[in-house]
Amino acid sequence: MAKIKLEVEKCIGCGSCAALCSKYFEMGEDGKSHIVGAEKKGIEELETDKIECAETASEACPAQCIHIEKQHD
Ligand code: SF4
Repeated sequence: MAKIKLEVEKCIGCGSCAALCSKYFEMGEDGKSHIVGAEKKGIEELETDKIECAETASEACPAQCIHIEKQHD
């Protein structure tokens, strides 16, 4: 399993993550990115067993506010 984390406050709204990985990221009316299906809050989190494009989005994020935590259990 892995956890995708998004520090919404740090997001500068460039749109890269949503363009690269619409499965997990969408731009909100506040101009910031949000994790699809996650509770809207300061740091949004989603557990998944398929990181897929989220890793690409994390690497591309200019604000470095997308984090992937890989969990081994
Ligand atoms: S790539 Fe980073 S800065 Fe750009 S919209 Fe996504 S979270 Fe925000």
